[in-house]
Amino acid sequence: MRAFHAAAGVSEQAYEWLSWSTAHIGHRLTGSPQGRRAEEVADSLFRLGGLDTVYAHAFEANAWSRGTVALTIGDGSGFRHLSCTALANTPLNASVEAPLVDAGNGLQADFDSLGDAIKGASVLVDLGLVAGQKGAKNLHRSEKAALALRAGAVSIVFVNQVEGGVLLTGTASVDGGLITAPAVCIAMEDGKLLRERLAAGASLSARVQMSNQSQLVRARNIIAELRGTVRPEEVILVGGHLDSWDLATGATDNGLGSFSILDMARVLASMPFRPERTIRFVLFMGEEQGLLGSRALVQHYASTGELGRVACMINLDMSGNPKGFAVGGPPDWEGLIKSQCASIKGLDSTVFEGASSNDVWLHSDHQPFLLKGVPVISPLSDLGKHVYGCYHSSCDDIHLVKPEAMTNNVRSVGTLLLGLAATPVLPGHFTSEQLRLRLQKADLEAPLRISGDWPW
Ligand SMILES: [Zn+2]
Repeated sequence: MRAFHAAAGVSEQAYEWLSWSTAHIGHRLTGSPQGRRAEEVADSLFRLGGLDTVYAHAFEANAWSRGTVALTIGDGSGFRHLSCTALANTPLNASVEAPLVDAGNGLQADFDSLGDAIKGASVLVDLGLVAGQKGAKNLHRSEKAALALRAGAVSIVFVNQVEGGVLLTGTASVDGGLITAPAVCIAMEDGKLLRERLAAGASLSARVQMSNQSQLVRARNIIAELRGTVRPEEVILVGGHLDSWDLATGATDNGLGSFSILDMARVLASMPFRPERTIRFVLFMGEEQGLLGSRALVQHYASTGELGRVACMINLDMSGNPKGFAVGGPPDWEGLIKSQCASIKGLDSTVFEGASSNDVWLHSDHQPFLLKGVPVISPLSDLGKHVYGCYHSSCDDIHLVKPEAMTNNVRSVGTLLLGLAATPVLPGHFTSEQLRLRLQKADLEAPLRISGDWPW
């Protein structure tokens, strides 16, 4: 473990590969030529790294890609165009004009309080939580879109929560399919102006026009393994999504995680020893369009019985400079991760603080594993506000990435992998009842019911 930690601590290979990829491939949108190229490059880098096995898990899915979009606001005396981006999985063709109604945070309570005013309206909804409601818990944009459409809205105008005219993309669909009405994102500043005018009594209309494409594509999760020496049938799975949105190069979302995994695999494979359990590295495609690759893989594992061999799933999504790890698993997992964190901190305390938490959340590739009861682990990252401000936006480029953030990923997550692989007996999966209670405790029943993913 010490030898690995030392070797990983001097490697900037993850950053160099990511930097090359952003310059030579560009974005990595699933179903695009760039996405396919990224799959090929990942496959080659695993092979170059000397992994024991490298293979692909192919899946088919409808992949959405953007065409054109326009938003025009009318106030009875004139019209004004506003810059916007289309959210993903929005209709292939739409042209809708409707009165604009401020629906605040876009939570169920907002729609309830507006009643019939929502029907046939274009709703202005915040991506974050601005209009404070006591005890309100934010929802994902896709869940807000589902609630808005259920309440009768005919289009949705999301207001970004990042200053500086930044526009965001991301899926508006809870299930990866196309939604029935257009949804766009506008800048925070434009949203504020619209809100002020509506609050002052102006009657505004919003015309949203868009054209997009969606086609059945074949994509591939790229998988590599180091075979365990003592318990090869037990698998520690570490994954992260390789795909990205098309507005930039996805250097942080999720070049940070996926290219760190590639280098982690390389450094681990270069050691003069093999781990006790099998370590499986998975680069998922289709995450951004709706967890398409991870849903497909978990479905495959569930049908073959393979899922029972996966001891835990470690997900790296926008991970860097881990301070510790969060775990969502039965109680024994919390103690185990705590002790693993303490031993990693013993090796290096420059960035890794040894923190651990037991949070669970949704909307990344760990979700399908978690919903089947597999314990999930994520690094507690420390990337800085400038990074999160470019999430899903046109500024998510390599200038946001510090090489050491990735080196620290490789070092800390790789050490955790070895530690888990060497633990004599690992705790088990969630029982159905444990999982239900855990999800309820984390307030995840409501969003999972909106998306139709609540397993009970
Ligand atoms: Zn991501």
